[in-house]
Amino acid sequence: MTQETPPVIEITGLHKSYGALEVLKGVDMAARAGDVVSLIGSSGSGKSTLLRCANLLEDSQEGEIRFEGEAVRWKGTGHNRRPADAGQVRRIRTNLSMVFQQFNLWAHMSILQNVMEAPVTVLGEDRAEVEARARKLLDKVGIGDKCDVWPAQLSGGQQQRAAIARALCMEPRALLFDEPTSALDPELEQEVVKVIKDLAGEGRTMLLVTHDMRLARDVSDHVVFLHQGRIEEEGPPDTLFGAPKTKRLQQFLSHTVSA
Ligand code: ADP
Ligand code: MG
Repeated sequence: MTQETPPVIEITGLHKSYGALEVLKGVDMAARAGDVVSLIGSSGSGKSTLLRCANLLEDSQEGEIRFEGEAVRWKGTGHNRRPADAGQVRRIRTNLSMVFQQFNLWAHMSILQNVMEAPVTVLGEDRAEVEARARKLLDKVGIGDKCDVWPAQLSGGQQQRAAIARALCMEPRALLFDEPTSALDPELEQEVVKVIKDLAGEGRTMLLVTHDMRLARDVSDHVVFLHQGRIEEEGPPDTLFGAPKTKRLQQFLSHTVSA
């Protein structure tokens, strides 16, 4: 990618409060096409909030969010600021597919229906085409034989892989992962880690919130350490994990499993 190509996601000076609680205090972050950017930091530092602001699931009060160079248009200011253009929000959100800690599969739909649902109902795509794509994606994440079962019949690792297939079926420009492995037992965690590594290897653009420092070190082009709503330190994974500069990052890393 040349420097001229605008980042897939670019956030500048983002401020976000819940009432009087300021959670993001001026955050800058960007992911270019093919970049894997990991967000690390203690619980409550604002990682999930940043991810949710990036795909406009949450409002923010100040700062800019750009998707492939296109700035989100706002109306109002401060706590009254909202996106001005519902069509733009929909377009951005459908291009930034999210994978959640708790999978969030629909319990009353089969695995195949879960993967097909949004492309058919939100994007209005042809059902047969979507089904063919969905089956391929379920194969790719290693659960092609689970198309017709209910989510409750799968292990956590299988459910999360189904959720990843569902996110991919939207053919998004970027994937946003919020602690995708932290609800899983260690042995199930690895099957999801493998899928995430494969996606990174394919050159997918990803924002990854994770507590798994080894995963962050292995897959990231860039790592961002958030502390109390600010970027305390950031850089390439080898530098950040190998030679952390700030006391806070040193402390944080000393409390996590070694990277
Ligand atoms: P992280 O993902 O890094 O653990 P979060 O982004 O979830 O952190 O939360 C950052 C801060 O915002 C925390 O203090 C949390 O309690 C608060 N917070 C998160 N979501 C809400 C909400 N919907 N309403 C009020 N406060 C919230
Ligand atoms: Mg979180």
